[in-house]
Amino acid sequence: MLPELANFCLQNSLFAINDYNCYNPTKVLNRLAKHTDNMIELQSVTRIFPNGVRALNNISLIINPGDFVFLVGPSGAGKSTFLRMLFREDTPTEGKIIVDGKDITLMPESRVPYLRRNLGIVLQDFQLLKRRTVAENVAFGLRVIGASAAEISNRVQEALEQVGLSHKRRMFPTELSGGEQQRVCIARAIVNNPLILITDEPTGNLDPMISQEIMQLFLEINSRGTTIIMATHNHNLVNKLRKRVVALVDGQIIKDELGGTYAYE
Ligand code: ADP
Repeated sequence: MLPELANFCLQNSLFAINDYNCYNPTKVLNRLAKHTDNMIELQSVTRIFPNGVRALNNISLIINPGDFVFLVGPSGAGKSTFLRMLFREDTPTEGKIIVDGKDITLMPESRVPYLRRNLGIVLQDFQLLKRRTVAENVAFGLRVIGASAAEISNRVQEALEQVGLSHKRRMFPTELSGGEQQRVCIARAIVNNPLILITDEPTGNLDPMISQEIMQLFLEINSRGTTIIMATHNHNLVNKLRKRVVALVDGQIIKDELGGTYAYE
C-alpha cells in the first residue's frame, strides 16, 4: 500500500473500510427497511474539555432513520463537538451515544472503523489529496480494503455520476472549483452507501448559488434513505428547506423543531 494512502486513512479514518457496496440507493433503502432502532440517540451527553469548557451540557436527542437534521447555533455553541461525537472523533465526559443500534460511548478503538463503515463525513475544508486525481480521491477508502481495480472503477464511477462529476474523474483537485471539490468530497462520502451522512458547514466556503447546488445533492442523497445531520450557518437554505432544525446554544438544545427555521434566539 502507498505510504501516502496508509497515512491518510489512518489519520482521517473517514471511510468505510470493508463494505464492498458501491453507492447504491437500493442497498441503502434495503438496509433501512431492516432498521427498527433509532438511527442516533444521545442520552444526557455532556462534554467538558480539560480546560473546563463545557462544550455540551446534558444533551438528549433522538434522530430517526431517514431524518434530515440541520444543527444550528452561534459559533462556540458546540455543533462541531456534537458531530465529532457521532463519528467517535471525541467521546462524552458523561452520558451515552448510540449509533445504528450500538453504544459507541465505550466502544474500543479497534471497533471504530466498523462504526465508520456506515458513516459518510463531509467537512468544510475539503481535505482532498492534491496530487491525486478526483477518481483516486474517491477511491482511497476502497483501495484500503483491497477491492479489485474493476470494482473500484465501477463504484467510483457511480459515486461521481451521483454528484455530476464523472467527466472530471482524471482531473486534480486544484483544477476544480470549490463547489466541484466539495462534490468530490460528497462522492467520497457516499461511495460506501452510508446509512448516516454527517456534515459540518459543507457550504461554508461556497457562494450562494453553488451552496444551493450542493444542498440539492444532500437532499437527493437523503431522499434515497441516508440520514443526514448538517451543522450550518446558512440561514437562507435552512429557512427555505424547512427540515428538522435542532438549535444549540452554550452546549444545550434550545430548540428541536420539525419544519423549522434558522432562528435560535
Ligand atoms: P461550534 O462548532 O458550535 O462553533 P465547537 O463545538 O467547536 O462549537 O466548540 C464548543 C466550545 O468548546 C467552544 O467554547 C470551543 O472553544 C470549545 N472547544 C472546542 N474544542 C475544544 C478543545 N479541544 N479544547 C478546549 N475547548 C474546546
